Amino acid sequence: MAEETGQASSVAGSCHCGAVRIEVPAPPEWVASCNCSLCTKTAWLVAYYPDGAVKVEGETVPYAWGDRMIGIHHCAVCGCGTHWRTLSEDFGRMGVNARLLDGFDAKAVEVRLFDNKG
Ligand SMILES: [Zn+2]
Repeated sequence: MAEETGQASSVAGSCHCGAVRIEVPAPPEWVASCNCSLCTKTAWLVAYYPDGAVKVEGETVPYAWGDRMIGIHHCAVCGCGTHWRTLSEDFGRMGVNARLLDGFDAKAVEVRLFDNKG
């Protein structure tokens, strides 16, 4: 580990096939594990960042679920869930699937259980 300089260091990540690359400004301090019908199936662990602070390169396919105003993106090639972004109203943040980040260890961060069932 590099010595802490007080400056958060960015973390890179990618989907399984490498077609999509993601860079976030800092490692997540906590992630969300949500029990809604979609997250139950996709098993994302979501880290939140300000929209615009995250770089996403490569082709992703958005999935808009019902009337929820977010696009849930996955890699067009390997299908890994990559990130979500708002489709309309800007709520100032977006979600990144922390599982894609290099060196991510779910045991090393706080996992907050979000109860969004139903
Ligand atoms: Zn991929």
